[in-house]
Amino acid sequence: MSQQGYVAAPPYSQAQPGIGGCSAGFGPPNSSLHYGHYGDPNSSYSAPQPGVSKSTVPFGSSAPVGPPPPGTHQFSQTNFQNGPSTPGQQPHRFQGPPPPSNTGSSYPPYSHQSQPAYPNTASTSSATQLANQLNSMQINSYGPGTAPSPRMSSGHPASLQGPQLMPPTQQQMSLPPGSQVPPPANTVNGLCAQPSLPPMARQDGIPGPVPPNPNLQQLPGQPPGPGYHPQQANYGTQMAGSQLSYPGAFPGGPAQLPGPQQKKLDPDSIPSPIQVIENDKASRGGQIYATNTRGQVPPLVTTDCIIQDQGHASPRYIRCTTYCFPSSSDMAKQARIPLAAVIQPFAIVPPNETPLYVVNHGETGPIRCNRCKAYMCPFMQFIEGGRRYQCGFCSCVNDVPPFFFQHLDHIGRRVDHYERPELSLGSYEYVATLDYCRNNKPPKPPAYIFMIDVSYRNINSGLVKLICDELKTLLDKLPREEQEESSAIRVGFVTYNKVLHFFNVKSSLAQPQMMVVSDVGEVFVPLLDGFLVNFQESRSVVINLLDQIPEMFADTNESETIFAPVIQAGMEALKAAECAGKLFIFHSSLPTAEAPGKLRNRDDKKLLNTDKEKTLFQPQVNSYEALARDCVANGCCVNLFLFPNQYVDVASVGLVTMYTGGTLYKYNNFQVSLSDSNFLSDLRKDIEKTTGFDAIMRVRTSTGFRATDFFGAIYMNNTTDVEMAAVDCDKAVTVEFKHDDKLNEDSGALIQCAVLYTSISGQRRLRIHNIGLNCSSQLADVYKTCETDALINFFAKSAFKAILSQPLKIVREILVNQTAHMLACYRKNCASPSAVSQLILPDAMKVLPVYMNCLLKSCVLVARPEIPTDERAYQRQLVTSMGVADTQLFFYPQLLPLHSLDLKSDSVPAAVRCSEERLSEGGAFLLADGLRVFLWLGVSAPPELIQGLFNVPSFAHISTEATSLPDLDNPFSKKLKSILEHIQSQKPYTMKLIIVKQREQSEMLFRQFLVEDKSIYGGASYVDFLCCVHKEICQLLS
Ligand SMILES: [Zn+2]
Repeated sequence: MSQQGYVAAPPYSQAQPGIGGCSAGFGPPNSSLHYGHYGDPNSSYSAPQPGVSKSTVPFGSSAPVGPPPPGTHQFSQTNFQNGPSTPGQQPHRFQGPPPPSNTGSSYPPYSHQSQPAYPNTASTSSATQLANQLNSMQINSYGPGTAPSPRMSSGHPASLQGPQLMPPTQQQMSLPPGSQVPPPANTVNGLCAQPSLPPMARQDGIPGPVPPNPNLQQLPGQPPGPGYHPQQANYGTQMAGSQLSYPGAFPGGPAQLPGPQQKKLDPDSIPSPIQVIENDKASRGGQIYATNTRGQVPPLVTTDCIIQDQGHASPRYIRCTTYCFPSSSDMAKQARIPLAAVIQPFAIVPPNETPLYVVNHGETGPIRCNRCKAYMCPFMQFIEGGRRYQCGFCSCVNDVPPFFFQHLDHIGRRVDHYERPELSLGSYEYVATLDYCRNNKPPKPPAYIFMIDVSYRNINSGLVKLICDELKTLLDKLPREEQEESSAIRVGFVTYNKVLHFFNVKSSLAQPQMMVVSDVGEVFVPLLDGFLVNFQESRSVVINLLDQIPEMFADTNESETIFAPVIQAGMEALKAAECAGKLFIFHSSLPTAEAPGKLRNRDDKKLLNTDKEKTLFQPQVNSYEALARDCVANGCCVNLFLFPNQYVDVASVGLVTMYTGGTLYKYNNFQVSLSDSNFLSDLRKDIEKTTGFDAIMRVRTSTGFRATDFFGAIYMNNTTDVEMAAVDCDKAVTVEFKHDDKLNEDSGALIQCAVLYTSISGQRRLRIHNIGLNCSSQLADVYKTCETDALINFFAKSAFKAILSQPLKIVREILVNQTAHMLACYRKNCASPSAVSQLILPDAMKVLPVYMNCLLKSCVLVARPEIPTDERAYQRQLVTSMGVADTQLFFYPQLLPLHSLDLKSDSVPAAVRCSEERLSEGGAFLLADGLRVFLWLGVSAPPELIQGLFNVPSFAHISTEATSLPDLDNPFSKKLKSILEHIQSQKPYTMKLIIVKQREQSEMLFRQFLVEDKSIYGGASYVDFLCCVHKEICQLLS
């Protein structure tokens, strides 16, 4: 098969040219390396540590059944959970009055220790002690005299300390005597839905009469918060109902909604993602970030800055979970911090940064290490007067090819160092030679094939006409190389229902010609000449065709469709034309027509929360996987635009898209007049996207570690070659590394990612990204350089992959366990000695718990009958290919207040935390997660704002049906449009606008995105989760 020969081509072979480029020097391929963190017994990382709970065992399983020991009952809430419960297991919970809070031993935050002497602190001075931040928890200290909540101004503990931060109220939070080491934490389904909060939390939802806890009462005179609180009670009654309590929740679930009586923990006192984001913006925003230092941590992905490549790849291309790898595998196992890089090889670079240089060595091709095949890069060390160089990856000494020879200067650097991108830059491209081409032939420019479902519903709804009309203008916008006048991309057209129709649009024809292929069992391509054409040359025939298609099928009553044969046909057409390309498939229904890949409706809510739930995420029939493999082998990327009214089995129909580096778009209940703009904008962006075709990516590493697992819209035939029929600017591959030896602290951990691809003009190229990380034998160095956003990207992708093979419950448990483990290890090895009851978070990970909780609450990981299976499969697929910026926004949406806009400034207002209590009924807010943008309007939103945005006189007149805002000539409208444009820029999907009025039904959906709050689907609030993680940490440390 051509694929074999292709993969085995010399450039990608490891040691022996001509023989499959897989794994020489890397040990035997080991398929069991997949699912590294998820219970793979062969994976060194998931092996349970002695004395540490096994990841698959829920914490607390060893808890004694029976009444908890006196004084500890606040930790014994075992049956608060997200999933199926074991009702009655813990009937004794919450009995008895709250314990006296008179003790010295304190629960997490509440220790007084204020000046930890970080032993390792030369390097880790930035541990954050939650203790200090939580000091201001206003348990019964409401009212005058309470110190203002400390904001985490810099993230350094020192800034959180000071007498004013130590109000005596801490005492209220202390545990009773003897509870220094809490009893086993109790998580069920990996989530602590209910907190083991200090006493006050126990009141939540207690069935039956509850002894009032005076500490929990809002003191008279305390202002009831910013206007919104009183309404919260309404939600509990109006909307909550039984829906608000998740299965297995303890009785009274709905009452657990945050309400005024329960709002005792000051959220300002726990680490705030917004604060972390704003601090980074303040310290690094707008500046030049030069990548000249190995192992330096880049600005956060939310910070705008100008990146200057000085030897390591820009963080736009590569972000790592930590910039300092542990030097030994034992250390890595101890910390359990995933070692991963999120690589977005075609990331968009803003106009004020330098685009990649292209190096052309002519027929010689790129210079590579003889042994490991790494490409010439800044990590190669020139020796012997410049005649030889030592490879930074494998240490092999190579001769410098004569044409490349150059003298060294007094510090041993080539005198042409700064003249050659491959010597001085982290990222650059090489022009590839024929050796790197399929069948040793120069590639042809790629082609785009548009394949439109013309079944009854699509014709009738006007969708087909909409697509055809849009294509007429879009085809002028096909991507082209900068120096070229027109695009080299050829286009072709197919329509289908139960059969396929190919169109001949050759420029010499007066009219397009249709050829029907009705044998869908064995699809063939009925024409070669005239199918794929240059749009400029065939413009009149193509326009003619696009005009005719809607009419051609106007009388159709065919409602059944095929699907797999459509992909097959597109792939065969590309294969016959000997080019790579993209299919744009516009599809609406479950393909039930008799044909390969035929699907039935197998959606089954009864599978939720069972061991079989995973099957809902797997393809229904095997043929899609085989089809995907063929597509990848032929450089055929499948973009799928879905317009479902009901279940279409995204897990099956989306599979080929996923494996071929394509993008899946889904527009539920699409209506032509209402939802056009999102779809059309997505289509336009996709057609114009920077894309590499027929790509293979290879990640090489210096000795001591290697890439073991890959997550993304990719396909892998072996353990090392990441194949992508296409890779566009938004696609990221997350790569996990593991040790296979000790790392050298002097030489660091070096990574080179090489993507061989065909450009839009048909040039074969190599895109090289290099990054160097540090290594250390001090765990503190590893923690100090972690990047939480990249960690969450990794955890999301690995968890979303793991649910294909493991029950969701286990996957969630592993996530919680690993979070606790990472933090416990820090606590044990890097923080100063302190009471076990103190929660200590490393500075670089202080928002890890809140982000992790957001991931755990994502609808992919939470099985609820209200959430359509297709929606979960869809989100799973999207996240799998996301880069760090996209996962950050997706899991922690941006919430922007609009009522206090500075209409004169261009700036976007500062975000606030995603919690209901940040809303106010006199306000208006935008909330964006990358897929949707909500415009939330408080009942008392300023009338001038409402008039300005909607051109209606009052709140009551606003229609929530609208999917766009009117274009009005006033400052409010213009400002909002500019904000929307800003948050939409650089995002791969056009966000759907949803207008939400306070206290109306649509608010339910909106509230799911207030991710710091308890979710209506049962996910824990941030505060609760933090307590849960803390309990687990205590258990690990005990
Ligand atoms: Zn080498």
